[in-house]
Amino acid sequence: MHLGHLVGALDNWKRLQDEYSCFFMVADWHALMSEYERPQVLRQYTIDNVIDWLSVGISPEKSTIFVQSHVPEHLELDMILSCITPLGWLERCPTYKEQLRELKERDVSNYAFLGYPVLQAADILLYKADKVPVGEDQLPHLELTREIARRFNGLYKEVFLEPEALLTKASRLLGLDGRKMSKSYDNYIALSEEPQSIAKKVQNMFTDPARVKRSDLGHPNKCNVHSYYGVFAPEKQKEIVDKCRKAEIGCTDCKKELAQIILNFLGPIQEKRREFLEDKKHIADVLEHGREKASKKAKETISQVKDALKL
Ligand code: SF4
Repeated sequence: MHLGHLVGALDNWKRLQDEYSCFFMVADWHALMSEYERPQVLRQYTIDNVIDWLSVGISPEKSTIFVQSHVPEHLELDMILSCITPLGWLERCPTYKEQLRELKERDVSNYAFLGYPVLQAADILLYKADKVPVGEDQLPHLELTREIARRFNGLYKEVFLEPEALLTKASRLLGLDGRKMSKSYDNYIALSEEPQSIAKKVQNMFTDPARVKRSDLGHPNKCNVHSYYGVFAPEKQKEIVDKCRKAEIGCTDCKKELAQIILNFLGPIQEKRREFLEDKKHIADVLEHGREKASKKAKETISQVKDALKL
């Protein structure tokens, strides 16, 4: 995971786990839909994913952390829900069309990918989740989940809650090039990024284009570096803004200082990552504990679903 995930989703998850009973799932079946040509990467991705979560403070004591494929009821419910989901609902899904267009390096024109909102609905409904933390771009998916739940309840019996959105604000942190931070744009700093690589990436960040010479007065609002100060060192942001406007600091020094701030910020997270990487048993235990907790709830729901269907 990268800094954009941390500032967007993970920080929010950390807060949520103190208020709610949270289920955090590694969606490896979803990943298989696009990684079907190299499924061998999924095991490592899963472990890396969980290590990132634990390193930033997602807690297996407070929350249920598990892997989707470890709980077979996800596919069972997916099958049942797919029978009551009209094809048109899936074909109209805006993110489906968008991903078909955008994902150039993978061919996702497969049967599973068309149905991924149904599996997503199963992921949510299986745990009778009443709230789902989503960004605005995910709202159509959640609406589809609510429609599927309504259709099931209407056809058979009131089993499912209609989950509501807990809107997550879009990440305040843009990518190094000013676009949305994303792996596909290669404009990110990973939580596991090496110090030399952080320094290099920050040095290559876009700055105020009008600032050609060191003596040119700067416009920090046109510079992405300035916004990173706002996120990682808000107490320094005003000073940087003043110095930039008066040309009292050069971009090289400004970025050198930012790189150090990010390094200091990531230091404790990376230290924890190293500890977890060496303790594979702990990760396996966390996932087994999560599987047990998730399975208990999933089995209860599936039994109610089968009862409603008289299966
Ligand atoms: Fe951006 Fe800093 Fe350069 Fe100002 S001094 S333009 S804030 S990098």
